[in-house]
This record gives sequence, structure tokens and C-alpha cells, in this order.
Amino acid sequence: MTQYGFYFDSSRCTGCKTCEMACKDYKDLSQTVAFRKVYDYEGGTWTAADDGSYTTDAYAYHVSLACNHCDMPACMGACPSGAIDKDQKTGIVRIHDDKCTASGACVEACPYNVPILDTEKGYAVKCDLCYDRVTNGQNPICIEACPLRALEFGEIEDLRAKYGDTAAIAPMPSPDETQPNIAIKACDAAKEPGDSTGAIVNEMEVTGTPAA
Ligand code: SF4
Ligand code: SF4
Repeated sequence: MTQYGFYFDSSRCTGCKTCEMACKDYKDLSQTVAFRKVYDYEGGTWTAADDGSYTTDAYAYHVSLACNHCDMPACMGACPSGAIDKDQKTGIVRIHDDKCTASGACVEACPYNVPILDTEKGYAVKCDLCYDRVTNGQNPICIEACPLRALEFGEIEDLRAKYGDTAAIAPMPSPDETQPNIAIKACDAAKEPGDSTGAIVNEMEVTGTPAA
């Protein structure tokens, strides 16, 4: 089976969110639904020295994430109605809305906060890696939209051969749980999954929940 995936270069991403907006436009998503989300992750502090000068280890970077079309999709395993499958030709994980009973089990199960219960439509929705486009030889729309060329699409084996096999940086969880099909170039400031020195500073935007 071919397994398609995304590459994300966090050293190029400026957090402009053009990818997110292009996806929302192309997929005609409502105001509260986004298939691609850009996490703003920041941390560090300023420290005063005895001579009155200050040093800092403050940092900020962005992580643009959509569905990772995982090898072990927790969403699919949790769905009680068999509405989610992993396409045998492309490895793309899709929700079939005609079978979805809106239980919300996939929303709870995905460690990447990907599926969303669309209350207007009455079923769960998520990124399908622009299935119709990629099976017609085109790139997903987010790849075309990024003005910094921070995103790339392709066979995950090729992306890993080209860019390495880093599959997570903070605030992403460890890749061990679902084996996501994403290759990442970490920027100099990037922290490991599980990092506790920083925080998502646009929590409301990416999860709909205000930061604690
Ligand atoms: S990222 Fe989440 S929604 Fe996408 S395949 Fe993996 S577990 Fe499922
Ligand atoms: S469009 Fe490119 S630079 Fe802008 S947020 Fe998305 S990945 Fe980052």
C-alpha cells in the first residue's frame, strides 16, 4: 500500500495560517470548523543578572497540523459504527458521513484533536488529505496555499528519506500512540513532545477552549 502523508518545516512556518484558511475555503467549512490548525507554541523567560542586564531563553514557533492519517488510527478503533476506514490504496483515513452516528468517540480518541463534531451537519468531520485532489495527481490545497513552502505532500517513505523521520515536536503528543504519517523539520527553538517549558498560546483558536 502507498502511504501518503504531510511534511511540515517548522523553520519556515511564520504562523500566517494561510494553509488553514485555504482549507476552510476549499472545503466550505463553517466558522467554528477547521481541518488544519496552526498551533502557536511559546515559552521561556527573562532573567536579571547582578549587573542589571537581562538574558532570555524566550522562544516562539508554530506547528501547522491536519490529520496525520496514522498507521494505528485511534479514531477508527474508537468508532462504534464503522464509519471510519483507512483506504488501502493511499493510506488516507476517512470518515464516511452516511455511516456516522455522531457519537463523538473519534473526537475523544484522537490525540491530535483532529475530528470535530459538526453540529450544523450532524456528523463528525476531518481532513481527508484532499482525497479527490490527490487521487487526481494534485496536491492537497494547503500545500498549494503556503506562501513559505513550509508544507509538502507525498509518499511518507519519500518524505522521510528526504527530510528525516522526526514525527513530533511540542505541543504534539508522542508519535508512539498512533504512528502518525508526518515528517517534521524542527526549527532551532522546537521542543520535544511532552515539553513543559512552553504553552499553546492560541488555545481558544485551536480547541475552542480558553487556556487555563
Ligand atoms: S490524526 Fe487523529 S483523526 Fe487523523 S488518523 Fe490519526 S487518530 Fe485518526
Ligand atoms: S501557510 Fe505555511 S507559513 Fe503560513 S501557517 Fe501554514 S504552514 Fe505556516
